[in-house]
Amino acid sequence: MGTQYVIVGGSAAGMAAAHTIRKKDSSGIITVLSNEKTAPYFRPMIPYIINGKKQVSDIGLSGKGMFTAKGIDVRTAAAVVSVDTAGKTVKTGSDENVPYDKILFATGSRPYMPETVNGLEAPGVFSLKTVADAVAMADRSRKTDHAVMLGGGILNLKAAFALLEKKIKVTLVVYSPEVLSQLMDPEDAFLVRKALDTAGLSILTGCSATDIITDTDGVCAVALDNGKELPCRMVCVGKGVIPNTDFLHGSDIKIDRGIIADTTTACSVKDTFAAGDVAVTYDSATGEKTVTALWTNAVEMGICAGLNMAGINTRYSGTLGIMNATQVANEPFVSMGIVHTKDKDVETHIKTSNNTYRKIVFNKKGTCLVGALFIGDITNAGMYRYVIREKKPIAGIKSHLINHTLHYGHFM
Ligand SMILES: Cc1cc2nc3c(=O)[nH]c(=O)nc-3n(C[C@H](O)[C@H](O)[C@H](O)COP(=O)(O)OP(=O)(O)OC[C@H]3O[C@@H](n4cnc5c(N)ncnc54)[C@H](O)[C@@H]3O)c2cc1C
Repeated sequence: MGTQYVIVGGSAAGMAAAHTIRKKDSSGIITVLSNEKTAPYFRPMIPYIINGKKQVSDIGLSGKGMFTAKGIDVRTAAAVVSVDTAGKTVKTGSDENVPYDKILFATGSRPYMPETVNGLEAPGVFSLKTVADAVAMADRSRKTDHAVMLGGGILNLKAAFALLEKKIKVTLVVYSPEVLSQLMDPEDAFLVRKALDTAGLSILTGCSATDIITDTDGVCAVALDNGKELPCRMVCVGKGVIPNTDFLHGSDIKIDRGIIADTTTACSVKDTFAAGDVAVTYDSATGEKTVTALWTNAVEMGICAGLNMAGINTRYSGTLGIMNATQVANEPFVSMGIVHTKDKDVETHIKTSNNTYRKIVFNKKGTCLVGALFIGDITNAGMYRYVIREKKPIAGIKSHLINHTLHYGHFM
């Protein structure tokens, strides 16, 4: 019998690993256990389920049936509740024991629900993470004229825009002085803020919710710590995420925030691996341990884990702790590496115009590119990512990095 591979979690990291293993080991038995009811799908697309631009069937990963056709057994509604690393089995919620030779933990993360807000369990309160959340939000939005979003991170902004597009009034409540505080300093965010204001999003900064107020139809208002009350029929919480590690409690897999993975994605116990949002890996800009929440990182780590599981020793080149490339309100931006520069000992260069903002960050000595933030015009961002991540020597290209005249020829 071939090697038995078990993958817990069937999303970016898990499916990338499954495909990679299949390419390298044609006879291995690959089982993916997913606690979601839906077959694997492209998670970044779920806001389009809310605004009705996509159906669930449109966002499946690589179409229908492909995973089973490749001899990858994807089991949905199959939650793993515990792992026995000595006996090499996992137990599912339906009490089934599934044996493995090698196992990947690719369980991602779940939304953090702050204990400081009372009543978050009320009908009409959501947090956008799964396709099921998106379907439920689309449903609730039909009887909603005002939605309140708690948190100004990228996921909540995406959910906010999906609701705005349905002509619902949306108010974003942010404790920080500005939106997207994880991805940029407040003073760097003015172009994004202008785009959000123009798009009609109402933003309240420097305050937070204390209570969800309900009537017979669920949420009917949000009480704020400044004494104000916002009447609404829907709330979406976007206050960050927590890695899904509960099923490993009591096991000997090392956990510190997420699952500790080494430079080959291996965990603390032989034949166990971790990849994606659940894994603690290292930041290639700072060298520090980090957990990220990005589809591309999860896929890269999943591929690396798949190669190592199939016996091909492969090093993971690390991730950028802060890295996001997306757009809100038609304003594209890329934020990568060290971008929070206030009171930091770094060399910073900023160039700005009416519709672009570009901030380039070097280390203190000015010898190494450590971060970049582009808003409006994001051309060549991939090359900057390459220089940061691979710690490329910049002696001959520093002025090009600063003046945005870098091109592929500089790497040849
Ligand atoms: C609304 C939204 C928009 C996003 N937009 C972007 C974007 O534009 N660009 C970008 O790069 N990233 C985006 N992301 C982030 C991106 O989706 C994640 O970084 C990526 O999905 C992480 O992949 P993963 O495989 O590590 O984990 P996940 O995608 O979180 O998948 C983990 C899977 O494991 C399952 N699972 C958990 N515990 C168990 C268990 N015990 N047993 C079985 N199964 C389990 C989970 O239910 C889930 O299906 C977005 C995320 C959301 C929610």
